Amino acid sequence: MAVDLSAALLLLLLYGHVERSITTVGVDPQQTVHLLQEQQVSHFQQYLQIRTAHPNPDYTSAISFLTSIANHTAPSTIRTIEFVPGKPLLILTYLGSDPSLPSILLNSHMDSVPADVDRWSHPPFAAFTRRAQDDKCIGVQYLEALRVLKTEGFVPVRTVNVVFTPDEKITGIDGWVEFAVSREFRELNVGFMLDEGQASPSEDFRVFYSERTRWRLILKAHGLPGHGSKLYDGSALENLMDAAMEISRFRDSQFDLVKSGISLPSDVISINPMYMEAGTPSNTGFQMNMQPSEGEMGFDVHLPPTVDPDDLRTRFAEWAPRTKNMSYMVIEDGPIRSYTGRLLITPTDSSNPWWIAFEQAITQSGGKLAKPEVLSLTTDSRFARQLDIPTLGFSPMVNTLLHQHNEFLQDYVFLQGIQVYTHVIRALSSLLDESMLTESTIM
Ligand SMILES: [Zn+2]
Repeated sequence: MAVDLSAALLLLLLYGHVERSITTVGVDPQQTVHLLQEQQVSHFQQYLQIRTAHPNPDYTSAISFLTSIANHTAPSTIRTIEFVPGKPLLILTYLGSDPSLPSILLNSHMDSVPADVDRWSHPPFAAFTRRAQDDKCIGVQYLEALRVLKTEGFVPVRTVNVVFTPDEKITGIDGWVEFAVSREFRELNVGFMLDEGQASPSEDFRVFYSERTRWRLILKAHGLPGHGSKLYDGSALENLMDAAMEISRFRDSQFDLVKSGISLPSDVISINPMYMEAGTPSNTGFQMNMQPSEGEMGFDVHLPPTVDPDDLRTRFAEWAPRTKNMSYMVIEDGPIRSYTGRLLITPTDSSNPWWIAFEQAITQSGGKLAKPEVLSLTTDSRFARQLDIPTLGFSPMVNTLLHQHNEFLQDYVFLQGIQVYTHVIRALSSLLDESMLTESTIM
């Protein structure tokens, strides 16, 4: 940037002290606001350009960049911790005036899914495209909002921690899961977490109080092999196809609830076939005169937090009955209940003072919240809810299409998000009334 005005001046101008600044310094306020915004956008662009896609995310460059822009925000401590070699976390801590109170954690992940370059009309790591929404925007927005608050002289009551994690896109096991069981995490004494949400195509911000859990279901069938001409009962593939048809009917019943408007997509169980494996190999492909003795199918299952996992397993057992030489296996990709046996749901009503503070902050920022939702996918939030930490998923992006191959985020939406976070961080970190933080905060 060619002109280096002090951040204090820029923010004074941004937040309504325009007249005094003009008479004092004689700078065009419009120009000054514009310069600040250019710098904020430039930080975002620079972060996007760091290649953090799997399979080889460059966490070192991401952390050194984030540390450099965090210096503008004057954190009390900056720590990089590697629980697993090559998988660093960055933890920025802003001490509150009462550090004995449970702290706020602002979470985001540094990694992104591999870019499928062929399907992009812009180079995927050009600014404002790949991974603009998921979720590099919020990481920079947290820091820019904290810079604004710092410049305004705001001192949080509760300590605020900003955490950048690795490996969210590949289960989080070497990232958040290691973090969650660490001494360092316990010492943060986290009372509330804010994590990523999803873009909203409308004027209203979306907020997520829970998420669906992902299971991988594998069905296997065994039976007598037989000549291709022979009709007989109980062949492996006949039984596997019967199961596939039952699953398909169940899938339709869930999808009908969505199509009819009774349920949101994230409120139903989704089950989709991922692979089928069967057949007797030959030199040219498969034997076409031989009914094979085994077959296997894999399904991706996403279940909402209110589903009883035992009921679902009973259903799987009915789809793959032992009496038909079938079996099933489930691989659970994350927790179903918290360590204390609670549903992984953060209340969004008057029982939860964090929710009240959050909702009021959105209103104060001039925004409006849509009805709180369950997130269709999984994020690091599930590990925090597993620890009974109230957690909301929130990415302040209105009038934005959900990320696809040509992911995009308008600069005004990004800048508006910084504004929203200044209200949200101020409100959450100022929440005083401990007596309201009763057991009912968590379910
Ligand atoms: Zn994400």
